[in-house]
Amino acid sequence: GNGREKLMVYALRKREMFRSGGRTKRGEDTMSEKEKTEGKLLEEQLTFSFPHIGKEAPQQIDEAAAFCEGYKAFLNEGKTERECVAAAVKRLEAAGYSEMDFAKQYQPGDKVYFINRKKAIVMTTFGEKPLKEGVRINGAHIDSPRLDLKPNPVYEKNDMAYFKTHYYGGIRKYQWGTTPLAMHGVVVKKNGEIVNISIGEAEGDPQFCVSDLLPHLAAKQNERKLSEGLKGEELNVIIGSIPYVDDSVKEPVKLLALKLLHDRYGITEADFCRAEIEMVPAYKAVDIGLDRSMIGAYGQDDRVCAYTALMAEMETKHPEFTTVTVFTDKEEIGSVGNTGMNSEFLKQYLERLAQMQKTDVKDVYAHSLCLSSDVNAAFDPTFADVYEARNSCYINKGCVLTKYTGSRGKSLSNDASAETMAKVIGIMEENGVYWQNGELGAVDQGGGGTIAKLVAQLNIDTVDLGVPIISMHAPFELSSKLDVYNTYKAFCAFYK
Ligand code: MN
Ligand code: MN
Repeated sequence: GNGREKLMVYALRKREMFRSGGRTKRGEDTMSEKEKTEGKLLEEQLTFSFPHIGKEAPQQIDEAAAFCEGYKAFLNEGKTERECVAAAVKRLEAAGYSEMDFAKQYQPGDKVYFINRKKAIVMTTFGEKPLKEGVRINGAHIDSPRLDLKPNPVYEKNDMAYFKTHYYGGIRKYQWGTTPLAMHGVVVKKNGEIVNISIGEAEGDPQFCVSDLLPHLAAKQNERKLSEGLKGEELNVIIGSIPYVDDSVKEPVKLLALKLLHDRYGITEADFCRAEIEMVPAYKAVDIGLDRSMIGAYGQDDRVCAYTALMAEMETKHPEFTTVTVFTDKEEIGSVGNTGMNSEFLKQYLERLAQMQKTDVKDVYAHSLCLSSDVNAAFDPTFADVYEARNSCYINKGCVLTKYTGSRGKSLSNDASAETMAKVIGIMEENGVYWQNGELGAVDQGGGGTIAKLVAQLNIDTVDLGVPIISMHAPFELSSKLDVYNTYKAFCAFYK
C-alpha cells in the first residue's frame, strides 16, 4: 500500500543520512527492501539503538589502533598534572603554537597557549568569527587519583623505611596495596632551585609499594568492610630496608634512604615541606585483549579526554569559532585551588581574549558552547546490577554524551538543555562520529560530578562528553581504542 512505500522511502533516506555522515551501511540493510514487512520498516523508522562500531565500521579498528599509539605514549609521559602540561607544550611547540601575548593582535588561524602555574593550560586557535559570536570550549582535567606524600613523610619502623601518604581523590584504598609505584613530583629547595623528581619509570630504576597481609594471616582483616580493606594510615610506601652503618645513628635505615635521595637530587628531609610528590602506578600503558581492542593504564580519567582534545586542537586549522582547549587541575578533589576550574583562571582568560577585540565578555559567554570532556562509567557485565542497561554507556559504541551527572536526584549536576544536546548531537552526526548516551550508574547507586557545572555558571551552554571507562579510578583503568578514536573525531568536528 501507500503507507508501505512511504516507509521504504523513509528507510532509504535514513540510511543515506548515515552514509553522508561517513557511516557505513548497517548489517541488516543487506535485506532487500521488498523482503521487509511493514512492521520491520516501521521499526526501522521509529526505534533507535546505538551500534557497535566494530560491527558497523570495522575499518575504524586499524585507524583507532594507530591513533592510540600516540595516546599510550602521552599516558607514559604524563603521570602528573605538571608532566601533562609539559607533554602538551612539547607537542604544541612542534605544531607551531607560541605562548599567548595578551598585548598582541592575533589573526584567524593563529595558535597560542597559556600556562597557569605549570599545572593547567589553555590552548587557542583563533577563529574566523568575532569573539562576540562565542567561542568553542573543550575542558578536560589532567589530575588523577593517587597517593600524595604528606609534608613530613619519611619514617623508620622495625628496620624498614617508609613514606607516609595521604590519598588524593576517590580511590578504593585496597586496590593500591602490592601495586608497583613510581615517585613523581617537584621539590623547591631552600635556595629556590626547583628539582623535578621521577623515580621508577626509567628501565632498571627502583620502584616502591604498599604492603598487604598474606591470606594465611588475614582472617581478621578479611572481616573488615571492603572500604577499609586497607585503611588510609596503612597506605605506607616502602622505600628501603638497609641501614647506614654507624651505631651512633638513631634511625639508620631512614638515613640511608635520605642519603640516596640526596645523592640523586641534592634534597634533604626538610625539603619535603616545599614539595608536591605523587606516588603513582609505575607500569606503562598496554594493549588489553587478544584483539588488542582496549588500553589498560593508570590515569585515563581524564587524560584520555586531554589527549584527544589536544590532538583535535592541533588538528584545527581555520575554525569558524575561536577554540579554547583547557586542561585543568584538582577536578578529583572538587576543582578547588587556583589551578582548578572553580577558580577564575578560565574566566579571566576569556575576559582578556574579549578585551583583545574590545568585546564585552558577557557576549562571549552567552554565545559560547562548551564540552566538559570527562569519562563516564562503562557498563561492566561482571557488576551489571549497579547500572541501568538502557541508559549506560558501553565500550566500543563511541564517545559518551552525558546529559547530567550528580547524585540523589541529579543534585550538583549541570543537566544540559535539550537545545545544547541537539547542537552537540547535530555536530557529531553531521560528521559521522559514533556517540552514545550515558548515565553514571543506576538511580541512587551513587553518582559523581565533573567541571560542567563550573563552566555553565558563567552562562555558557555546556554538556559532558568523553570516553567510557571500565574500572574507573583504579590504578589500572580500561578504555576502548574505538571510543578513544571517536572522541577525538567528536572534538575535531566540534572545532571544525
Ligand atoms: Mn574525570
Ligand atoms: Mn575522576
